[in-house]
Amino acid sequence: MAEIRIKNLHKAFGDFIAVRDSSFTVANGEFFVMLGPSGCGKTTTLRMIAGLELPTSGQIMLGSEDVTFYRAAKRDIAFVFQLFALYPHMNVRQNIAYPLKSEGVSRAQIKDRVEETARLLRIDDILDSPVSGLSGGDRQRVALGRAIVRRPKVFLMDEPLGALDAEFRALMCDELRGLHNRLGATTVYVTHDQIEAMSMADKIAVMNNGSIEQFGSPQEIYDRPTSTFVAEFIGSPPMNLLSFHAGLRKGRKTVKLSNSSIAVPELRESVAPSELLLGIRPEHVRFDDAARLRGRIMSTEYLGSTQIISLSTSHGPLKARLPAEIAAKTGDNVGLTLMGERLSIFDRATGRAVQTALYETVPHA
Ligand code: ATP
Repeated sequence: MAEIRIKNLHKAFGDFIAVRDSSFTVANGEFFVMLGPSGCGKTTTLRMIAGLELPTSGQIMLGSEDVTFYRAAKRDIAFVFQLFALYPHMNVRQNIAYPLKSEGVSRAQIKDRVEETARLLRIDDILDSPVSGLSGGDRQRVALGRAIVRRPKVFLMDEPLGALDAEFRALMCDELRGLHNRLGATTVYVTHDQIEAMSMADKIAVMNNGSIEQFGSPQEIYDRPTSTFVAEFIGSPPMNLLSFHAGLRKGRKTVKLSNSSIAVPELRESVAPSELLLGIRPEHVRFDDAARLRGRIMSTEYLGSTQIISLSTSHGPLKARLPAEIAAKTGDNVGLTLMGERLSIFDRATGRAVQTALYETVPHA
């Protein structure tokens, strides 16, 4: 198993910069997710780690080895692509055995390793079945078996579940995470799907425009986004951003919105008078008749146990997630309380959180 250390990795295609000075460490045995919208440079980063693309500059360390310019085959890495192509004329056993066969591993060893892999994936009962008749789930498991049978140091996965429907995807997320727990192999997983990322990752790097916006555990990223990009990319519905104008002194624990004092995490640095955004997750908004901050209900969306209520306030639109049994009628004017310890403050002009000292911002190299 191996740690991956990426230092100042940079990739330009002509004038276009696909990956910009990226630095991060994936700890040994960690499930690391690169998350971001289409075109932000996730696949290019992964391809450089795999050795399928050479960086313009920067360094890739696998354990203590500098593999930056190693060919892909020399890296002891397994790359799992989105569309798993199985060999249709081979059965399950032959499909899984294939990579070992082409490496010249002995027949006895192949048999042992294929059977051990099949047990891990719980497909040992179908080893001698043709792949053509398999369900989608079993096909994915066979394809995974083909990747893990080599016992590589590192797994790289590029949207492996991208082509699946939502229900099956959730099932495979559970399986992949369970498999990771059993194997303990360092894994780098690329996705644009925040739910996949949040449910599987030990650590997430959120990417935007070729750069890492934030690096941290799913909880850090959800609770303490360091930029409005992350605040809006993570969460469904995303974090609300209410605009207000203020200068804030270091040490302050409240901000004023519509003449009501709202508790915020203590400010670690002063903020010159400027346009600010108060970030609040929909589940941290409460109805409170006595509150001075008011909102008009524009619409409600019933979700079974909860409802999403869209409101209009003098600081901008706001969505609240409340229990379904709370009465909410379109057109009603309601008082709103914001749960203080969960608020974030951003500078509107830069999009950066102003309480940076509270957060883990720098992807460690
Ligand atoms: P997606 O999920 O859509 O694959 P991504 O975040 O993985 O997105 P990349 O595939 O890494 O993004 O691409 C990042 C940018 O680099 C894109 O704008 C893409 O068009 C560009 N790019 C990637 N490969 C090349 C190439 N070989 N030549 C020129 N531009 C490229």
